[in-house]
Amino acid sequence: MERVAVFPGSFDPCTVGHEAIVRRGISLFDKVVVALGANPQKNNLFPIEKRFEWLKKIFADDPKIEVIKYDCLTIELCKQQNANFILRGLRTSADFEYEKIIAQVNKKMAPDIETVFLLTAPEHTAITSTIVREVIKYGGDTSQFLPAQIKI
Ligand code: ADP
Repeated sequence: MERVAVFPGSFDPCTVGHEAIVRRGISLFDKVVVALGANPQKNNLFPIEKRFEWLKKIFADDPKIEVIKYDCLTIELCKQQNANFILRGLRTSADFEYEKIIAQVNKKMAPDIETVFLLTAPEHTAITSTIVREVIKYGGDTSQFLPAQIKI
């Protein structure tokens, strides 16, 4: 059976930290589905179409990486995609506490789906979409935090 993982997120914007986790995920899975959550409650800086376009550009070089948009529970999306894994990145202990709750609730709802965590590379620990948005707001240079395909 093909090993498919879903990597869900809001990617507002996608950073080099997200990109590294997806590319490392490809060594573990046959396919990684990068799933852009269309959550209207979240106050996003970049419109969903822009974020989607960037993700497609970033991962266009690898046929094992698919980019989609979704608007449902992540476990429902996994079922639609025949994915048995959810891929997430961990930067800090705060990430761990947050991710643990989501993963445990998902496990209760869908026992066959495993959440797999990859520890961030040390050089990406401090990179968050929130911080990048702040730098953008005040006109700073974000090029070292963003994949080359994203031009702000
Ligand atoms: P969400 O809206 O679910 O918080 P994000 O787009 O912020 O989504 O993040 C999606 C996933 O990417 C999460 O598992 C998050 O921990 C991980 N992630 C974000 N930034 C980094 C980074 N710099 N290094 C490793 N993982 C990261």
